[in-house]
Amino acid sequence: MGRTIRERVGTAKVYCCAVCGTHLARHGDIRSKTFHGRNGKAYLMANVRNVVLGEPENRILMTGLHTVVDAACAGCRSTIGWHYLHAYEPSESYKIGLFVLEKVWLARSDAWVAPVAGSLASDRRLVFRPRPAGVEGAAADDASGRAPLRGAVFV
Ligand SMILES: [Zn+2]
Repeated sequence: MGRTIRERVGTAKVYCCAVCGTHLARHGDIRSKTFHGRNGKAYLMANVRNVVLGEPENRILMTGLHTVVDAACAGCRSTIGWHYLHAYEPSESYKIGLFVLEKVWLARSDAWVAPVAGSLASDRRLVFRPRPAGVEGAAADDASGRAPLRGAVFV
């Protein structure tokens, strides 16, 4: 299997896939935090990266009939939300072209949550260990609604 090349967003406040750490969106891409997905809260995003889109289908959502495609993480293929192609209700047309990402699948980048530089003793380095690539171990974290914790150890 070939290696997937994934784009890093390259800004401090980045939302990553909670399962595999792939960069998905910038904080500034959020248009609304009041959306709901299959697994609870979700964000309406103007732009996302590193996603694989599924086949278009008509789906009845809380706000009426829409044509959507599922959006999956390009790193681990978890279905993390959907992309609006069409809204049948004129009042919902502002969503066309936007994405919904479910909060349960999102984690903040290490850079976002890392301590302020200079707060650590100079003879220690803070090392973040990314989660292993396997998806199975993360399922329990997803069900809890919490972002998986990343281990931080001193060496
Ligand atoms: Zn992923």
